[in-house]
Amino acid sequence: MVLDKLSRPLRDLRISVTDRCNFRCRYCMPREEFGSDHTFLSKSEILTYEEINRFVIACKPLGLQKVRITGGEPLLRKDIHKLVEMISGLGIETALTTNGSLLSGQLNKLAGSGLDRVTISLDAMDQETHSRITDSTFSVSDILGGIMEASSLGLDPVKVNCVVRRGVNESEVPKLVRKFRGTGVIVRFIEFMDVGRTNGWTPGQVVPSSEILDFLSKDFDLVPLIRDSPSDVASRWAHSDGSGEIGFISSVSNPFCGDCVRARLSSEGKLYTCLFSTLGHEMSDLIQKEADSDKLTRAITKVWEQRKDRYSEERKPETITLPRVEMSYIGG
Ligand code: SAM
Ligand code: SF4
Ligand code: SF4
Repeated sequence: MVLDKLSRPLRDLRISVTDRCNFRCRYCMPREEFGSDHTFLSKSEILTYEEINRFVIACKPLGLQKVRITGGEPLLRKDIHKLVEMISGLGIETALTTNGSLLSGQLNKLAGSGLDRVTISLDAMDQETHSRITDSTFSVSDILGGIMEASSLGLDPVKVNCVVRRGVNESEVPKLVRKFRGTGVIVRFIEFMDVGRTNGWTPGQVVPSSEILDFLSKDFDLVPLIRDSPSDVASRWAHSDGSGEIGFISSVSNPFCGDCVRARLSSEGKLYTCLFSTLGHEMSDLIQKEADSDKLTRAITKVWEQRKDRYSEERKPETITLPRVEMSYIGG
């Protein structure tokens, strides 16, 4: 096991398998910045599945327990189930986060390859609002179909993530709670974060979880549940009649850096120790050229042992303007 400067282990690895996406969510990849002339990584720059797997193998002796495949949109990568198969074959819990647009067609293969769980981002039930937020025309009913199919395939508990922004989609919050109540699907409401440099974040756009909870408590009788583990990012609430659970990810109003056990690998092989990092640690040379997994393990150890990130706990006006990497690149 390896510990960072704040005694946090490396338990969880998020892997961005592509920096590309078929959505242009305004809070993540606004079209003005990520339109047709944005420079995305070329195919030759991004890690192959074998290389990604090599990195995961090197993290295993350090105490790695869980991998989340993300992006950009991970289901845009060809045969992503092959990567799932490799990682789950290592005995590591394997999860995936997707915008859901391409999920239905790939679910059987993903489940058959050993995927343990899936999280689907859905910011609105209303089609017009969804299209506006994602700056795309993908069908909400297709995404809903994928969510229910994932649940029926046993990728439980299926989670739905909704980023709430003031004046944009607060009215979608109770609709989402109602839709998934009694289905086993857990909806989690995420505070809008100041990640990256392009999404025009201002504190006024953040709807604190406490405000959402107060608002929902008028319609639903919700009771608190204990967190699964201290490093679990969401606080959990349940309908008092046992008809389901919801969650809140309060990264702005109630940061959880003290228990942050997450590392991130970008699609071209840089290791990031925080979602708000300004710099990544180049690993691609070691991943690509070294057959020696111990050497890679030592390089990861060295980076982790120096880690002292706690950005969300230290957020202040000066830090908000730092040149941070984008969420679509580093992996959400
Ligand atoms: N494309 C996939 C998706 O949307 O699920 C995976 C990558 S996306 C970057 C991962 C998650 O990050 C999504 O749930 C998305 O809503 C969330 N996200 C992106 N930008 C965010 C921001 N500024 N604040 C909070 N969450 C954000
Ligand atoms: Fe794409 Fe996900 Fe970012 Fe939306 S949040 S633009 S779906 S990577
Ligand atoms: Fe972890 Fe960085 Fe987020 Fe804190 S700000 S929880 S250290 S990723």
